[in-house]
Amino acid sequence: MTEHVTVPVEDMVKWRRHLHENPELSFHEVETARYIYDLLSTFPNLELSTPIENSVVAILKGAKPGKTVALRADIDALPITEEADVAFPSKNPGVMHACGHDTHTAMLLGACKVLTGMQEQIAGTVKFIFQPAEEVPPGGAKFLVEAGVMEDVDLVFGIHIFPMIPVGVVGVRSGSLTAASDIFELTIQGVGSHGSTPELAVDPILIGAEIVTNLNHIVSRNIAALDSAVISIGEFTSGGSANVIPDTARIQGTVRTNDPKTRLYIKQRIEEMIDHITKMYGATYELNYLLGYSAVINDEAATEMVREAAMKVVGEAAIMTPPRMMGGEDFSAYTDVVPGSFFVVGGGTVEEGCGYMNHHPKFKINEGSLAIGAKMEVQLIKDLLMK
Ligand code: MN
Repeated sequence: MTEHVTVPVEDMVKWRRHLHENPELSFHEVETARYIYDLLSTFPNLELSTPIENSVVAILKGAKPGKTVALRADIDALPITEEADVAFPSKNPGVMHACGHDTHTAMLLGACKVLTGMQEQIAGTVKFIFQPAEEVPPGGAKFLVEAGVMEDVDLVFGIHIFPMIPVGVVGVRSGSLTAASDIFELTIQGVGSHGSTPELAVDPILIGAEIVTNLNHIVSRNIAALDSAVISIGEFTSGGSANVIPDTARIQGTVRTNDPKTRLYIKQRIEEMIDHITKMYGATYELNYLLGYSAVINDEAATEMVREAAMKVVGEAAIMTPPRMMGGEDFSAYTDVVPGSFFVVGGGTVEEGCGYMNHHPKFKINEGSLAIGAKMEVQLIKDLLMK
């Protein structure tokens, strides 16, 4: 049985197009945050604050006490030149809302407009979080958590839109959804020499080659087949001449994992291998292992609440289970501290022109998806705080 929630579709389209035409990069969302703040100022019953730069948090206290539920939208864009076939392209050269954060923001604004009119029926508090800097680690979510935004929150929910999924489809998945994304930067310090006298050198290219080869054995030999992990080397630079053995080499790579234990185990294996291989050849090294976003782990009970809301908004036949993704998402900073669920809203089909993945210059979504996202957010609050 689908229920009827009315959301302000025309407003959302207008807001979304304004945001789409005026994208701003992570940590620079000055006008975006001002636009959101000014708009929210026109809604009744909200307490507005700016816990960190370029963020807006709106608190709606219901007429009766109860739990606090947070809904989050990210607001930043990407350093991409827009090539999408839309009537309202980016006016900011080289910057584009190519991950759909403009749609997440419009959905949450729409849900907020509806819910501010239902204050009398709410038992509890709704916290609307408009978060800057999802795209650039360490990410805005971490700073909002450090600023205490999650301290009084019982449950947190967020949406991501994806193209190539029909409008009206909602993706729900319990457990790990996105991957932890970490990077490491290694400098091998050897001893340089003339190419004709390798016996006088400690060759960082040979040592680096051994390290690259051995790191590629970790996933195939140390990780269970049904677990998932990626280790990719993106840089190996050294030397520059045919007859000189250089004294240093630099290697950088990325590590993606779904399971927090696997994440730390791989870090340990990489550290051990680098330590042992460099020692074996008499070199020294400097290693920076930078833990990026952790994996978004969706709480089972919270995910069930999303599923129940989706049953009412789109019906059972339109609920899908998205695959686990090896991409990163800083919503994990919230689910690391509070139970919650991050879910997927379909952004349109290939036939509708929505055949380009997030972060592609031709990324495009069907605006019919705005109503679905907003209805999901309103329905969650109705289910959780208006029983
Ligand atoms: Mn995104």
